[in-house]
Amino acid sequence: MQPVGEHQSALILAADLTQPQKLHTRQQCFYGCVFCGSPVFSYYLQPNHQSAVLICPLHAKQLQSSLLSRSTLAERIAQPFNQQRIHKPGFSFDPNRRVQVSVGMNTVYADFMPADSEQYCIWVNGLEFFTLHSESGWLCFSFMLSDAAGQPLLKVEKGELKLSPEHWEYSYEVNTLKIRDQQRRLQCTAQLCNDRVLLTKGHFVDPSGDGFVVEGNRVIAMLDGQKGGQYMHRIEPGRYKGGWALFNKIRHPDLVMPGNFAFVCAAKRKYPGSER
Ligand SMILES: [Zn+2]
Repeated sequence: MQPVGEHQSALILAADLTQPQKLHTRQQCFYGCVFCGSPVFSYYLQPNHQSAVLICPLHAKQLQSSLLSRSTLAERIAQPFNQQRIHKPGFSFDPNRRVQVSVGMNTVYADFMPADSEQYCIWVNGLEFFTLHSESGWLCFSFMLSDAAGQPLLKVEKGELKLSPEHWEYSYEVNTLKIRDQQRRLQCTAQLCNDRVLLTKGHFVDPSGDGFVVEGNRVIAMLDGQKGGQYMHRIEPGRYKGGWALFNKIRHPDLVMPGNFAFVCAAKRKYPGSER
């Protein structure tokens, strides 16, 4: 008989980490879940250990249900999955290589400065819906998903899953992140690695109904909850710092748009009920 507690999960969310501690943990774990390399993860405390560890929702669940043992966890902490991806597509970042960023069929190329920097891929009325960060030679991702009406569902900040509906499922295989809802319908698909970011599914809509819906090859701009147009172009590389921006100047007259976006969709018409 094994002693009581052997199978009990030792997994505790690290709730109070400082930003430097989080950065240290990301670096220690090579910017992904120690089991699968997923760039979407939570910070967990290690038993009898000072530092935290990155684990994705799928593998946290498997650890909690004892599908994965504590000794496997210890092995993976010693040799995180992404450590073996150093010479393959992973998240370590080569400053001489551009990152291809595609949303649907539209592609821009991100050039990062040697210093830490970011590229806005999807920006709507001041909200960053999808942002790439280059951080001490590594890439990480922040994004938000909404439902079709623009209610926020899911939030990821530099890889950390900050908000998620219950029972949503996350997988990361062959560089592809898939997020499924409770009914196992796909809500988000994105290839995420150091030379390619390819987004093919997701709702990125703000609470006023402005934003983008990505569905396969198509990128549909939404204005006030209505389809504003579709974007399917391949554009010249190197001309832009950013990706897709939607700027409703009628609703946000004082907002200043950052960067230099490849696609800008702006509300020009007056909408019903506007006093302007
Ligand atoms: Zn994982």
